[in-house]
Amino acid sequence: METKLKNIHIERLKDRFQQMASIGRTESGGVTRLALSPEDREARELLVHWMQKIGLATRYDDVGNIYGRLEGREKNADAVLIGSHIDTVPNGGQFDGTLGVLAALEVVQSIKEQQKELKHPVEIVSFTNEEGARFTPQMLGSGVVANEFTREYVYERKDMKGLSFYDQLKKIGFVGSEANRLKNGKAFLEFHIEQGPVLEAENLPVGVVEGIAGFAWMEVIINGQSNHSGTTPMHLRQDPLVAAAAIIKELHDFAKNKKDGTVITTGRIQAFPNIINAIPSQTIFSIDVRHAERKSLESTIAEIKKIVEQHAGEVKMDMTTEEIWTKHPVSFSPKVISVIEQICKQQQTPFKRMISGAGHDAMYMNAITDTAMIFVPSVAGKSHCKEEETSWDDIEKGMNILYDTVCKLANGDSESL
Ligand SMILES: [Zn+2]
Repeated sequence: METKLKNIHIERLKDRFQQMASIGRTESGGVTRLALSPEDREARELLVHWMQKIGLATRYDDVGNIYGRLEGREKNADAVLIGSHIDTVPNGGQFDGTLGVLAALEVVQSIKEQQKELKHPVEIVSFTNEEGARFTPQMLGSGVVANEFTREYVYERKDMKGLSFYDQLKKIGFVGSEANRLKNGKAFLEFHIEQGPVLEAENLPVGVVEGIAGFAWMEVIINGQSNHSGTTPMHLRQDPLVAAAAIIKELHDFAKNKKDGTVITTGRIQAFPNIINAIPSQTIFSIDVRHAERKSLESTIAEIKKIVEQHAGEVKMDMTTEEIWTKHPVSFSPKVISVIEQICKQQQTPFKRMISGAGHDAMYMNAITDTAMIFVPSVAGKSHCKEEETSWDDIEKGMNILYDTVCKLANGDSESL
C-alpha cells in the first residue's frame, strides 16, 4: 500500500484540475469549452505549458491533436499512449475527457520523478473535437489518426455558424504538420469517467472496459391523415402521432424485457403541421439502439423493423424505417485488459469488466494499437452536465491502476502474456 500511494500525487492533480475547470466555466457551474474555441485555445496552451514544464517533448499535428512525449531507453520503440480530450459539450462537466488528459500528465510526471527507466517511450495525447458538439461527427482528431477520416474531410467540417474546422484551427494557432501525427503505438490507454450509474450502484471504484457498444441510429416516418381536431370522430382518425407513441412504448418494453444489455431510445420526435387543433399528417421519430455484440445488434435492428411493420399493418398507415448511421461494436485488446485486471488484483482494488455505452477516442485508437480503457465511477451516473462528479478517492484508486499498467506495458512486461 505504501509504495502504491507515492505514485500518484492527487493534490497536484486536483490543483491542475481546478485550473483547467476554470477555463470556460459557466455561471451555472458547468464548463463550455467547445473544440477550437478561444477557451479551447487557452486550455491547450495551458496543457502544452504543463507538458513542457515537466520536460516532455511537445508537438501537435495537422488536425491539432497535442502530444507530450517522454523518451524510453529504446528511442525508436513504439510508445505507450495515454490520452483523452479537453473539449466539452455546451455547459458540460469538468471531468469528461479532461480527467484522462490530466491523469496522463500526472502519471508521466511521476514516472519521470521516480526516474523509472522504461523501455518504451510514454506519450500523452489530447485529441481534437472528441465531443462533436461544435463540429460533427465526434472524435475527428482520433478518427484522422486511425484513418477513419481524411484531413480534407475534417478541414471542411463546419459549425452551426458556418465556420470551418480549418479556419478555426488556424485561428487558435494549432495547425501542425502531418509528420507529427501519431502513426502507431505499443498500446493506448484512456482513463475516463464512466458517465453511467453502474460502478456507483455496485460500489466499485474501477471498471475495466472491454469494448464499446455498437449502435444504430434509425428514423421512422409515419404518414397519417391530417384533419380537424374538433370535427373528426375518434374512430375515423389516422393519427400518426398516436401510432408513433404505441411503437415507442413497444420498443421501450422490448429492450427492457430482453435483459441482455440492449438499450433503445427515442430522443427526437416531430409532428407536422405541429399545431394544437389538428391531427398531424406526419410524424417522424428517431431510434438509437445499442449493444456490445454485432450479431445481437443486427438482430435487434431487424426486430425493430418488424415491430414497425406490424404496427403499419394494424393501423393501415404508411410507415418507413431508415437506418441513418451504424457503428459496429468495438472489442478492446484482451492483452491490455488482462494486464489491467492483474494490476487491479495486485492492488486489491475491486473492479468489474464492462462495456462502454458511449463512444470514446479509444474506439478509433483500437484500430491502430492494443487498446483498453479504465473507468472510474460517476456520482449518480451523471455526465455532460454541471453535476458531473467523481470522488477523488476513486480517481486515486483508478490512477494507481493506470500508473502500474503504463509502467508494465512500457517495460515490455506484457509480451509474455
Ligand atoms: Zn469523453
